[in-house]
Amino acid sequence: MRPTWVEISRSALRHNFAKLRARAQSSGAELLCVVKADAYGHGLAICGPELAAAGACWLGVTSVEEGVRLREALAGQEAEQDALPTTSILPRSVPRILVMGGAWKGEAEAVIEHTLTPVVWEPYQIELLEQGARRAGVAPGHLPIHIEVETGMARQGVAIAGLARLLAQLKPSTGTALLFEGLHTHYASAENHQSEQNAQQTARFCRAGLEARKADMWPRYLHGGNSSTLAAEDGTLHRLHELARGLGAHLLVRPGLGLFGYLLPEQLQNGSQAAAAIAHELEPVLEWKTRVIALRDLPAGTTVGYGATWVADSARKIALLPVGYADGYSRRLSRATGEADGGHVLIRGQRAPVVGRVSMDLTMVDVTDVPGVEAGDEAALLGQQGEEGITAEEMARVRQTIPYEVLCGVGARVKRVAVE
Ligand SMILES: *Cc1c(COP(=O)(O)O)cnc(C)c1O
Repeated sequence: MRPTWVEISRSALRHNFAKLRARAQSSGAELLCVVKADAYGHGLAICGPELAAAGACWLGVTSVEEGVRLREALAGQEAEQDALPTTSILPRSVPRILVMGGAWKGEAEAVIEHTLTPVVWEPYQIELLEQGARRAGVAPGHLPIHIEVETGMARQGVAIAGLARLLAQLKPSTGTALLFEGLHTHYASAENHQSEQNAQQTARFCRAGLEARKADMWPRYLHGGNSSTLAAEDGTLHRLHELARGLGAHLLVRPGLGLFGYLLPEQLQNGSQAAAAIAHELEPVLEWKTRVIALRDLPAGTTVGYGATWVADSARKIALLPVGYADGYSRRLSRATGEADGGHVLIRGQRAPVVGRVSMDLTMVDVTDVPGVEAGDEAALLGQQGEEGITAEEMARVRQTIPYEVLCGVGARVKRVAVE
């Protein structure tokens, strides 16, 4: 194996799950664990079963393909958990899988075969599922779906004005194979506790609840909120809980990032004590590692890498790492001569700056000040060595992005290895 890999800490994942779940339960909610985008780059085949074993009763993915992969990863696993009541289709111990991006043409069969629960918000999505269910001989009311309501993202979701029409399509009296099981929404500014948008969106979501009540359609689950919502003190969870109670529904909250040990830096910057406390409790799950494959002593004046953007101003020792932008190690981590910004890696417990341009498969770092470096030494791209650490937040800052993009950007060819 090329020595570039990520290590996924099962114990850190379980720890974060337990912390967030306790937080949700104190507001009368359960977790729907979001593991889209290959579990935010951590590996669905490792994280899905680990979360299920820890007691997750709902997992969320983006697509039917991801749902099928997850169902296969879970198959045969004896999940020990105290699951919420589910529909009649699955035994209680098997986690439900929400396909948050909905099903596309030709995917209804896979939804049914793998017992996935698609989100719908357009009438045509209901029709496609209905046709698929008819072909597969699904009995009336046996294909659960969740309806997403648009309350302030202008992204997915049915506008409140269109909800009555969707609900009418799903009335049991129509003989539909579909079961209206969940109603949910997604917040645009959850990490900003001062934003009025959270309360506005919750108010709109309450109106959607009212529409369901008027139509005499009662969802078993209501869900809203993400990791940021769990770390907020803005009353959103409380209001969602009241709404769920009024509808006789279970409340779910959908964290993703928090499970993997991070919160958005913005949320911590705006001084919320609850967010700071939660951030302190969470542990990064992923460490990204590689090894020094060669060393080179450069005389002063030598240029390094494509474009010769970095020039040794004195005699330097350079280490070569087998990782590049094809692995998701962004070109933004490059460093030209004289630039303070740019990536760092950890070698022998010390920081070594990236020098020159990150190339597709290779990166050079300056190890002149790190004593004793040898070929074969481990280098941490993300992770901890002794006192020094590099977090996804730090890397995101240099790359001018968010921890989400750093984590889910770790390339598919980087092997994921589970460690305890
Ligand atoms: C990604 C996603 C989440 C999880 O959000 P985090 O910020 O990672 O906690 C929840 N709900 C929906 C609809 C999402 O797309």
